[in-house]
Amino acid sequence: MVVIFGIFFFLLGAVMGSFFNVIIYRLPKSISIVRPPSHCPGCGEKIEWKNNIPILSYLILNGKCSNCDFAIPITYLVVEAITAFLFLFSYLRFGVSFELFTFLIFISLLIPISFIDLQTTLIPDSISIAGIIIGLVLSVFRGLALISIIGTAVGAVLILTIILVGKAIYKQDVMGYGDIKLAALIGAFVGWAGLLLTIMIGSFLGAIYGLIQTKRGKLTMKSQIPFGPYLAIGGIISFLYSEWIIVRLFLP
Ligand SMILES: [Zn+2]
Repeated sequence: MVVIFGIFFFLLGAVMGSFFNVIIYRLPKSISIVRPPSHCPGCGEKIEWKNNIPILSYLILNGKCSNCDFAIPITYLVVEAITAFLFLFSYLRFGVSFELFTFLIFISLLIPISFIDLQTTLIPDSISIAGIIIGLVLSVFRGLALISIIGTAVGAVLILTIILVGKAIYKQDVMGYGDIKLAALIGAFVGWAGLLLTIMIGSFLGAIYGLIQTKRGKLTMKSQIPFGPYLAIGGIISFLYSEWIIVRLFLP
């Protein structure tokens, strides 16, 4: 039974990943999510269903349009594969439960946000604000309403403070304003303690990336890196393991 459910969640994740690709590509350009149907960005030809199978089609066609050989960005495959494996892993972690449902919603908000932030350095309000509301509503059913409301507030206030302090010291935005709403969203799902852990993990990962890129000469102290994906990774780790991490590390 576990195998059948595991396959089901993997395939569901692959299909959702394919849908996220549409959102990631179209939302920043303000194109409708539903129409027109998927078409090749190179030649405009409508993509047939057999060439639009998540993960598989990309591998079979070797990342090219079947009509014009246009190279389809590897991001499409990455998003589908990450989503598929995360859905499978979520099922193995939570079993069929309300926490599974909540976590799948959570990552379904974070994956499009992360990739849109990577590509445009903007986080769309339409996803983050809807996500805050959804997270708070779900928290009522999870019996976590209060710590989620505090988590949302702490997330927003903390990032806003970092931006204001950073502006005073460095005379520039150290983080984007979209990160305020993203941190509030994550707080709504993981609560205030999980949110603090999220920011610690996110800052740590962001700092490592910044150091590596600076060493390679690809980054100066002035350049801005999209912080959204690091917050998202921190949020996912927090949702999965915050109780475990907080108990082990901070409550000896
Ligand atoms: Zn084409």
